[in-house]
Amino acid sequence: MAPLLVVAVALVVVVVLLVVVFTRRGGRSSTATPAAPRTTRAAPAAPSGSAGGFGPSGLGARVRAAWGSSPNGDAWAGLEDVLLKADVGPQATADLIARLRARGGGDPVDLLREEIVAVLGPERPVDLDAPGLDVILVVGVNGSGKTTTIGKLASSLVRDGKRVSLAAADTFRAAAGEQLAVWAQRSGAQLVSQDRGADPSAVAFDAVTSATARQVDVLLVDTAGRLHTKEPLMQELAKVKRVIEKAGGVVTETLLVLDAQTGQNGIAQARAFTDAVDVTGVVLTKTDGSARGGMVLAVREELDLPIRYVGVGEGPDDLRPFDPAAFADRLLA
Ligand code: GDP
Repeated sequence: MAPLLVVAVALVVVVVLLVVVFTRRGGRSSTATPAAPRTTRAAPAAPSGSAGGFGPSGLGARVRAAWGSSPNGDAWAGLEDVLLKADVGPQATADLIARLRARGGGDPVDLLREEIVAVLGPERPVDLDAPGLDVILVVGVNGSGKTTTIGKLASSLVRDGKRVSLAAADTFRAAAGEQLAVWAQRSGAQLVSQDRGADPSAVAFDAVTSATARQVDVLLVDTAGRLHTKEPLMQELAKVKRVIEKAGGVVTETLLVLDAQTGQNGIAQARAFTDAVDVTGVVLTKTDGSARGGMVLAVREELDLPIRYVGVGEGPDDLRPFDPAAFADRLLA
């Protein structure tokens, strides 16, 4: 009887120990779960003085590996695969391969760097120095970074001595107006807004009238994020633009804000927005959280739109004019 009792007690001890161990493990994993979304958050701002967004992607090393010792049939196919996987997009990939083939021999990474810079063309900043009111319409899907980009742009324009006004024409998203009000206060820009749910075109009309009266230099118009697949919402955006013009404003620039992490889906978004409002330039945000900069080439080649700025963080100084050479260096680093 006694040995049986010892065995039973030992079994109970083992079971208790196992329960304790598993409970602790379970506890650990359950405290880890809420932290998971952090991986989807954009990374903190790039250190100041960085070349303007996009972490090194390792593309250079992959290009060299695909190339091997000499460019043959396999090397070209391998290179095509590497570029497509880096979000460069089919059209820009085909163009880059054709350009490299035409170049003949040389270091593949050096050649690619030169051709990327050639495809991107020179830096093309927004020209806001003409006399009179410049209106910048800012469009894009929800969460792409429109409001933040407007805040950063306002900060930089005010620093340059411009009189800046912000129109809160995103009357749909809860807290969009408040978010813009914070940026207006931070940057020293004037804010024009109405109650939530108001007609965005009416806000834009008021903003143009007031900006003209106050001799404002630049009016930045925030718009509601919308799914690019929702036709009536896209038409509403076109109406905002028409009303701005009716109020006597000249839309100098329609900036499409794209999240650099959306890859080829960003290209589909851009097409729909371009159809509705004639986009004139792109701001790529969250490039601090992305090593996949190939999308820049797809935007340039497939949409024929200049990249005006890149967002490199959430702070007022985290917007940089797009620099093609610095971009190519970082992409291939
Ligand atoms: P909207 O809905 O298009 O107006 O987007 P918001 O301006 O509200 O931005 C959505 C989120 O992205 C916010 O948390 C911003 O702080 C963040 N964000 C915007 N631009 C950048 C950027 O360049 N880098 C990083 N890391 N975050 C950004």
